[in-house]
Amino acid sequence: MQLLEDRIRRDGIVREGGVLKVDSFLNHQMDIPLFEQLAAEFARLYDGCGINKVLTIEASGIGIACITAQKLGCPLVFAKKSKTKNIAGEVWTSQVESFTHGGIYDIIVSKDFLGPEDRVLLVDDFLANGAALTGLIQLVRDAGATLIGAGIVIEKAFQPGGEALRSQGVRVESLARIRAMSVENGVEFC
Ligand code: 5GP
Repeated sequence: MQLLEDRIRRDGIVREGGVLKVDSFLNHQMDIPLFEQLAAEFARLYDGCGINKVLTIEASGIGIACITAQKLGCPLVFAKKSKTKNIAGEVWTSQVESFTHGGIYDIIVSKDFLGPEDRVLLVDDFLANGAALTGLIQLVRDAGATLIGAGIVIEKAFQPGGEALRSQGVRVESLARIRAMSVENGVEFC
């Protein structure tokens, strides 16, 4: 999506270790008119798929997932990160390895808000190694819900997550795909 690529070129900052900072419009301060356009594109791509739930992980995906849910006319559920290992039976739970912070954490969603009747679109800000999406997919499968696909704002295509998920048959739509990036040369898109 040209608008998004231009914004990443203008305001994105590449850090050592393969991290792109987009805090000025996506991850910290949120540009809501931009989000509206991104969400409209997700809604267009998944038009007619009968999505009745958007699912993301707290925290940085919640903003774009909210606006996407509004465009689709359905609720947004965000999986909570939980430090508690012993979780009661009323939640679906899976594990995620954090790309940005390291370590493994549990994610939980109440069984009240995800079940077999749901047709789910996953939404997240970034796709890197795919751990966050894989954790969410596990929740969807455990709940007996239908996975329609994923809407990603920025895919780091030089990391394996996108390819791995697509090869498993998951529909992944990314609005910007980064082929390579470095502190010296900035960002190159696919
Ligand atoms: P994955 O689980 O696919 O490895 O990583 C996805 C998650 O890690 C996203 O939810 C996002 O919060 C974070 N993440 C991965 N790469 C980046 C990055 O380059 N910049 C930022 N700001 N977050 C990232």
